[in-house]
Amino acid sequence: MTPDEFRKHAHELVEWMAGYMENVENYPVKSSVVPGEIFRKIPDNPPAHSEPFNSLMKDFNEIIMPGISHWQNPNFFAYFPANTSPPSILSEMLIATLGSQCMIWETSPAAAELEEKMMIWLRKMIGLPSGFEGAIQDTASTATLAALLTAREKASNFLINNEGAEHAGTLKVYCSDQTHSSVEKAVKICGIGRENLVKISVKEDFSMDPEKLKEAIINDKKRRHIPCCVVATIGTTGTTAVDPLRAIGEICRENDIWLHVDAAMAGTALILPEFQWMLDGREYIDSFVFNPHKWMFTNFDCTAYFVKDAGALIKTFEVLPEYLKTRTRGKVNDYRDWGVPLGRRFRGLKLWSVIRSYGTEGLRDKIRYHIRIAGQLSKMISKETDFEILAPVIVSLVCFRYIPAGYNEDQINALNEKLNHQLNDSGKLYLSHTVLNGKYTLRMVTAQTNVTLEHVEKAWELIKKTARSLHS
Ligand SMILES: *Cc1c(COP(=O)(O)O)cnc(C)c1O
Repeated sequence: MTPDEFRKHAHELVEWMAGYMENVENYPVKSSVVPGEIFRKIPDNPPAHSEPFNSLMKDFNEIIMPGISHWQNPNFFAYFPANTSPPSILSEMLIATLGSQCMIWETSPAAAELEEKMMIWLRKMIGLPSGFEGAIQDTASTATLAALLTAREKASNFLINNEGAEHAGTLKVYCSDQTHSSVEKAVKICGIGRENLVKISVKEDFSMDPEKLKEAIINDKKRRHIPCCVVATIGTTGTTAVDPLRAIGEICRENDIWLHVDAAMAGTALILPEFQWMLDGREYIDSFVFNPHKWMFTNFDCTAYFVKDAGALIKTFEVLPEYLKTRTRGKVNDYRDWGVPLGRRFRGLKLWSVIRSYGTEGLRDKIRYHIRIAGQLSKMISKETDFEILAPVIVSLVCFRYIPAGYNEDQINALNEKLNHQLNDSGKLYLSHTVLNGKYTLRMVTAQTNVTLEHVEKAWELIKKTARSLHS
């Protein structure tokens, strides 16, 4: 493709992109293709000769688009959002064009220094203490793996990195039974082992019970096991429950245990002064992760990972082959030492673009609005006697179910599952579910970039109507 051809196609693409953003509401939110449908439409062998870009676009529109679920549709209420925004998309275009590898300072000084400054901006915005430093990771899962590896090394005095796991003894990691599966994955692959992940039971509000945590730690110490890390969550995936950081932190401090905080979704709400209570006990935190790529209008991938002791993180990850020795080493941040991958995208630019375009007050307005409409939704649900709310509404997630009279628990579970599928199959909205105390629970997240109260009201009407027609 020549530069002139590129220019022509790029202009056409921008038209496509703007049109998509204007029309995204008209696409079915959840794709309804069946397994294998897309795969079968793509040739079994790659083309031997050049094809025009237009034929790619034709297939993109005809084959690919029907198999896309539209996360940027404001009627996307499932999981947690993966928000984009125009300033984020524009900066992604620049990032793709530069194609920089931002593994060390020297390979693009601007990327390293902008990333360093953006992490300072974010730290101030969410209210972490000034000693914290951070790096952008691809995902919260990777950041949590980095945290567990660092905790593991601290607990073993950096012996495992050097000599292998035989020196470890039995390390133990603690989290609540509502914690995201990324913790279990990290415990598996960092060599601590799934059997050494202790799931602490939760209170009625689905937050970790610190008394139960304390008991578990005492028991493990009696058996000469080594408590290594506690993962507390600000905003669990199931219900956005907030674990009590101060109580958990005190236990960690007493027992010399690493405290990692997973705030992947709800961390964005910390930019609001009225949500700073979630971070009470912040002085006990060793590492902290949140995802601007969820609720802060920044394209995936962009995970902010903060540590109190950057030295311990770097000591865990650094290796120094000859080809990476530079004259600036030690004077600048070489972010390849701050996590698993060597190669890194220029992700700081997205944050710069988003934060400057909205301004911190603009971001606060949007987040507040999302939280307000979740509150309004929960009021609408509470008014109906054949629906119930199943968890406290903390930020922008409402957990509820349909409970018509005359049905037993099993039937109600089956009915709600059917309701969820029927709603999603309609293409008009997309909900996901969880199970809370044995109850099939619908989750509705009001945090998509462009969601409004009107979308939520319309969705709620459809939910009521669909539910009540299920058994009539
Ligand atoms: C989404 C989520 C994760 C995983 O995030 P990735 O960036 O996709 O790895 C981890 N923890 C919580 C609480 C989440 O909501």
